[in-house]
Formats: sequence, C-alpha cells, structure tokens
Amino acid sequence: SNPILEVNNLKKYFDIRGGIFGKKVGEVKAVDDVSFTVNEGEILGIVGESGCGKSTTGKALLRLIEPTEGEVRFNDEDITQVNSEQMRQLRRDMQIIFQDPYASLNPRHTVEKIISEPLLVHGMTDAKERKERVQELLEIVGLRAFHASRYPHQFSGGQRQRIGIARALANNPKLIICDEPVSALDVSVQSQILNLMSDLRDQFNLTYLFIAHDLSVVKHISDRVGVMYLGRLVELADKDELYENPKHPYTQALLSAVPVADPDETGERIILKGDVPSPSNPPSGCPFHTRCPQAMDICKEVTPTFQEDGDQHYVACHLYE
Ligand code: SF4
Ligand code: MG
Repeated sequence: SNPILEVNNLKKYFDIRGGIFGKKVGEVKAVDDVSFTVNEGEILGIVGESGCGKSTTGKALLRLIEPTEGEVRFNDEDITQVNSEQMRQLRRDMQIIFQDPYASLNPRHTVEKIISEPLLVHGMTDAKERKERVQELLEIVGLRAFHASRYPHQFSGGQRQRIGIARALANNPKLIICDEPVSALDVSVQSQILNLMSDLRDQFNLTYLFIAHDLSVVKHISDRVGVMYLGRLVELADKDELYENPKHPYTQALLSAVPVADPDETGERIILKGDVPSPSNPPSGCPFHTRCPQAMDICKEVTPTFQEDGDQHYVACHLYE
C-alpha cells in the first residue's frame, strides 16, 4: 500500500492569554505529537470524544490552522513548508467536508453557484462547461440536475451534505478530510450518506481521513481506525482488529460502552472515573493515568511511546512495553 499522507510528530498548541494586556498565561496542547499514515484509497477513521483534538488535527493537515510543529507529507511533499500559491494548488487535491453543511453553504447562493465556485477558482473559466460539470456532480451525489437553481434552505440536512460532497468533489481531489460529516443527521440518513461516501471512494479512488466521535459510524466506513485522547493518538489498527482486540484501556472503555446486537456478547461495561482532564493542564506521564483502571506507578511519570504491538497494531501504553 502506497502512503498518500504521512503525518510526523504533528503538534498544535494554542496560547491561552489573560489579563488586560493579553499576556500568555498558558497553552492548550490540542494536538500533541501525533503521527500516522494514510494509504492511497483507504478510509482511516479517527475517533475520540469532543475536545480530544481530532478536528484540530484535520484542520492542521490542510493548514486551515497552522501546525505548531511537525511534518505533513502529501504525495511525499511536506506541505507545512510550501508557500501560499503552492498551497492553493494543493487544495485542489485535498478537500474537507464539515459536520454542518448548512453553515458552510452560502445561503444566498444557488447550488449552481456554490458548486461552480471551486471550478472557477481552479481555472474552469467557461460558464457552459461549469454548468455541465455541476449537473454531473449533482447526479454523482444522488441529486437531480434541476436542484442546481435552488438555495440551501430548500434542502433537507442529508441533501445539504450531498451538496457539500459535490462541492468537495468538483476538482477531482485525491484526499478528503471528513470532519463529523454525518453527526448532525438523523440515523436513517447517516447510513445513506456513509454508503454514498463509500461508493464514491471506490468510484473515484478517493482517500478519506474520517473524523467522528461515534464509534459505530467509524466502524461502518473505515478500513483502519485511530483513537485519540487528550490530543494524542493512543491506538491505531485495522478496523476489525481494533474492535475485536482493543489494547489500550481507553479504547476498551469506549468500546465497552457501545451497545452490541448480540446480547450474549455483551461484556462488562467499563466505567471510567472522573472527567476528561483539561487540555490546558494535562496529567503528567500517560495522559490517561487519572482515569485508567489499570494505571501503574510508572504511568504517572513516563509518557508511553506509540509503538507497534502485533501486526500493524499500534498502541501507546506501558502495559505493552
Ligand atoms: Fe493506563 Fe498506564 Fe496504559 Fe496509560 S500507560 S493507559 S495509565 S496502563
Ligand atoms: Mg470536532
């Protein structure tokens, strides 16, 4: 398998400012030393609770927010080092789909105009050509050509996400970062959109980084899954391996809370003590030690490294060192 995206030691720290002079009084380590690879044509799911840094990771990969440190190699080029014109060109190949399509679709523009815009930006100057491409894109995402003249408010949530997908596909991207693309939708609509995205991946050989808080959504669509906690990637494995054989105590707790279809398979639910600590004041050592049912003395002192334990199964936990 061919890596299309390689993320090495990515960090995004935000300054906390306070007082009347806005002096720096601390920092939030929203993304803290995250490394992973996404292979061409695969769907890598990233799952974690809100505030774990998964959305910040997605945005930092596209430099919608500037990473503090680290390398992001797209097709072997470190995009953190390119200038703004090169970045503009790269944005043709790297797209993002957001959770709330309504917020990202201009309410005063027709669907035609919304989907045409990226075509125009990337050099499709002929109006007739753009119009035809818009109609083709609408059909690709399961809408109708006549929808082009309508406005975003005339569509349901699921249809609006289809419009967002059509816009993301306009310039034949290679990689799409999907940030909670179905979280705002009804469960019945969620699976339609997930199936569409899955079909589009096959049809256009797309690669997705699929970010979500919902473990069953991520399970539905992903080939491999990574789990984040407090700005760190704590586990990463093939989907079936991760769901059947979770190694990190945090992943085990998350999965134990997911209802399963077969009641005989219901294991003991692992209840975690306490809340997720503040990312502005993360625990020393393993960031999970304040809540981990298996914490040992070393966990308070030493941050575990993210390393392979078993075939292509990565985990950051002292239990496996
Ligand atoms: Fe728990 Fe220690 Fe593993 Fe952290 S390193 S997950 S505290 S056992
Ligand atoms: Mg988010």
